[in-house]
Amino acid sequence: ALMTGNEYVESMRKLNLQVYMFGEKIENPVDDPILRPSLNSVKATYDLAGNPEYEELMTTKSPYTGEIVNRFTHIHESTADLVKKVKMQRLCGQKTAACFQRCVGMDAFNAVYSTTFETDEAHGTNYHENFLSFLKYVQEKDLTVDGAMTDPKGDRSLAPHAQADPDLYLHVVERRPDGIVVRGAKAHQTGIINSHEVIVMPTIAMGEDDKDYAVSFAVPTDSEGIFMIVGRQSCDTRKLEGSQIDVGNSQFGGMEALVVFDNVFVPNDRIFLNGEYEFAGVLVERFAGYHRQSYGGCKVGVGDVLIGATAVAAEYNGAQRASHVKDKLIEMTHLNETLYCCGIACSAEGTKTKSGNYMIDLLLANVCKQNVTRFPYEIARLAEDIAGGLMVTAPSEKDLKNPKLGGYIDKYLRGVEDVSTENRLRILRLIENLTLGSAAVGYRTESMHGAGSPQAQRIMIARQGNLPMKKKLAKTIAKIEE
Ligand code: SF4
Ligand code: FE
Repeated sequence: ALMTGNEYVESMRKLNLQVYMFGEKIENPVDDPILRPSLNSVKATYDLAGNPEYEELMTTKSPYTGEIVNRFTHIHESTADLVKKVKMQRLCGQKTAACFQRCVGMDAFNAVYSTTFETDEAHGTNYHENFLSFLKYVQEKDLTVDGAMTDPKGDRSLAPHAQADPDLYLHVVERRPDGIVVRGAKAHQTGIINSHEVIVMPTIAMGEDDKDYAVSFAVPTDSEGIFMIVGRQSCDTRKLEGSQIDVGNSQFGGMEALVVFDNVFVPNDRIFLNGEYEFAGVLVERFAGYHRQSYGGCKVGVGDVLIGATAVAAEYNGAQRASHVKDKLIEMTHLNETLYCCGIACSAEGTKTKSGNYMIDLLLANVCKQNVTRFPYEIARLAEDIAGGLMVTAPSEKDLKNPKLGGYIDKYLRGVEDVSTENRLRILRLIENLTLGSAAVGYRTESMHGAGSPQAQRIMIARQGNLPMKKKLAKTIAKIEE
């Protein structure tokens, strides 16, 4: 059954997570002022699913449980499902202006679904069935699952098994009759503290020597041996000041952590890959493909908020009729919708896998993500251009509320007469939050490196671009006979 947002929050409260931040164990991450906005973003994926206005996008019927499930736990059954996924992500981005974290699990489900099917076919293993019972469990309980791919990677010129420290890629350290024991870490884990379960996948294609590193499985996030060290975000401690204005987005945010797996036990029925190294690369390519599609939705939704904030800032400055301002807003919209075009196109051009679920078009998904490594930066640049320098020099909310200073701030930092200085500061702080505050982690640097750094997409574009076919076309037109 679907959980409500509040039931989700209570379910997180019951977990015994090992979360560390600023050198201390956080006993109650749910109510921590720095972490709570990230929980609220995931909560939004539950609240929106329970809202009749959005149920068409946010929910669907599962053939595995026969029940209505949240689309974030769904296995894509058609290109229409892939398109709806992107639309759902744009919606969630619009409602949170942050990373809502639940997509990594959805992308892991769909990659593991088809890869386990093909691994079983080649090796007679039982991974697909393992995965299906895990999937049913997730759908029935409406859980949030983290998809953990990125290993720390150590010396980038060396394969996993050749690293000076063997734990720099997560690997199997013990095989037991009832399961395996794994050790290693996953870096930059989006949403891990807000997830009930984590699906671990390998991070690169592997050879025979890396056999012990070719491992995929799912375990509860509060399993013995897992601990999470929360990453700092720009301006994170502003959330401790109790100010609503200065944080820009007081309700929603994202989070990332370094997750350590210190001899974690995985029972046999939760294993999805264990030594079949030639499928490590397949799993990576598919997960990365789905997540590159995802950015054509979520970043666009956040972009919608940033464009809107920029237009409001222009109005508050009385600059909205200047032709260059109008043109810059057009350019921002053009760039944002180009990303959306890519997200929709790679979905509409999806194809059925052997297992029956749907994959995005890999070339178009990689073009999508390559654009995402650039366009949000240009959109942010134009937002800063229009917003003006006050977005980084404005006094704090405490100064605005100070009886002695407030009057001066209100008087001298006012734009157009009929808009309060407070509202002007609110919109500028939101732009600051998105372009260089805590949300810039998701909107900027994650756009660069999340779902793979730009060069990873260029390798895929080279592989998928079919240059021989294009050369043939040219030779035919030019009447070249060789
Ligand atoms: Fe979802 Fe976007 Fe966050 Fe990735 S960055 S988890 S796609 S919202
Ligand atoms: Fe991401």
